[in-house]
Amino acid sequence: MEKKLQPVFDKVQRKNEGEPEFLQAVSELFHSLGKVYRKNEELFRDNVLERILEPERVLMFRVPWMDDSGKVQVNRGFRVEHSSALGPYKGGLRFHPSVNLSMMKFLAFEQTFKNALTALPLGGGKGGSDFDPKGKSDAEVMRFCQSFMNELFRHIGDQTDVPAGDIGVGVREIGFLFGQYKKIANRFAGALTGKGLLYGGSELRLEATGYGLIYFAAYMLARKGKSFEGKRVSISGSGNVAQFACEKAAALGARVVALSDSGGHIEDDEGIDLAKLEFVKHLKNEKRGRIFEYVERFKGSRYIAGNEIWKIPVDVAMPCATQNELDDLDAAALLENGCICIAEGANMPSTPAAISKFLDAGILFAPAKAANAGGVAVSGLEMSQNAMRASWTRHEVDARLRAIMNRIHQTCIETAEQFGVPGNYQAGANIASFRMVATAMLQQGVV
Ligand code: NDP
Repeated sequence: MEKKLQPVFDKVQRKNEGEPEFLQAVSELFHSLGKVYRKNEELFRDNVLERILEPERVLMFRVPWMDDSGKVQVNRGFRVEHSSALGPYKGGLRFHPSVNLSMMKFLAFEQTFKNALTALPLGGGKGGSDFDPKGKSDAEVMRFCQSFMNELFRHIGDQTDVPAGDIGVGVREIGFLFGQYKKIANRFAGALTGKGLLYGGSELRLEATGYGLIYFAAYMLARKGKSFEGKRVSISGSGNVAQFACEKAAALGARVVALSDSGGHIEDDEGIDLAKLEFVKHLKNEKRGRIFEYVERFKGSRYIAGNEIWKIPVDVAMPCATQNELDDLDAAALLENGCICIAEGANMPSTPAAISKFLDAGILFAPAKAANAGGVAVSGLEMSQNAMRASWTRHEVDARLRAIMNRIHQTCIETAEQFGVPGNYQAGANIASFRMVATAMLQQGVV
């Protein structure tokens, strides 16, 4: 780390003790900042760095709701409004029992820089709750969402803060949240994205993160004269991002051989084609079942419990489940088996030690803040359509998504070259996004 920046990092560590995920995200960015400091010292004036590390606002609130047996349950709700330097706060809501302040702060911090890369006018935020939708009835999920919105509504709005989905928050939850927002705010406004198509949603928002990830990886491969055609691919998770990454990779001729959930992974050497993927979508989205049920349906596939997915030999690996799901041992196994490309669909899925291994080996490594920006990019397009009271066609949104992913790819490549680390997408993404956010902050004064 650059010596001059070390005191700022030491201070942020002291101030945020007990928030390991947030500190991990900050440290990941800091490792690229030395290069910016040496070239653009002026970007660090007015204590911009310390200001960027402090969320503009952190909301934490009680969410009481009644379960189906009539018992009152209490969860904790969060919204971290990290930065409005580039636009209204924007970022998803996560419902998962592991949600805590550290996780929300890391996700909001990452979101600020990811959103900058899209070049759309979007600030960064994130929110959620330690509520677990698993095993809950639709009525329970609805009552929880309504109670959550009873507090959140006063902080969000199409010009202030625009949440969307994330882990545990899909079409069902966004529907309940939007319904309650509309009722109590008395406004039919684009205060949430990821909405249903009938009430202000955008074509392709559902697919956007997974498709965008594959577009980004395809641009990386193309730069090396390669493509997805015939490549063996493993994708962790089997939720929104994983499903549509699988769909687009298969459409481009890849053989997706593995998917997973928090219980374990399935391996299908023949490849998960579009028909098999339909089964997975129904299993996970409608039946809310477990991935091991795949092997009962498709003979010749197998299920392995635990986190063993990265031991499978593949050309391309895509972690699309959760943070820190791929560690240095996993990275070593992937490299030993000849993997040539890692593209992060989840946020911060690779540990710092795993990333070092990928960078040292010189393989293609697409960091989350660049590779999974397709979701928020189409959320930005949903906001534009809502503001114009227009709906673009699927074809039109897809063309814009491709163009945005292409531009992010170019930005990473050009910035990495300019700063003396050609081919390092992580440095390119960090440097480019930091420069945008810092510049906007400096132009807006000390606020
Ligand atoms: P979903 O809830 O749709 O799916 C999450 C998947 O990851 C499920 O298969 C789930 O398994 C698995 N998973 C979740 N938590 C864990 C865990 N602690 N350990 C192992 N597996 C886990 O979420 P999304 O697909 O929307 O999100 C996946 C990742 O992508 C997250 O990191 C999210 O932040 C990121 N992302 C999402 C975007 C979006 O548009 N949705 C945009 C950009 C990033 P199980 O069912 O067993 O819980």
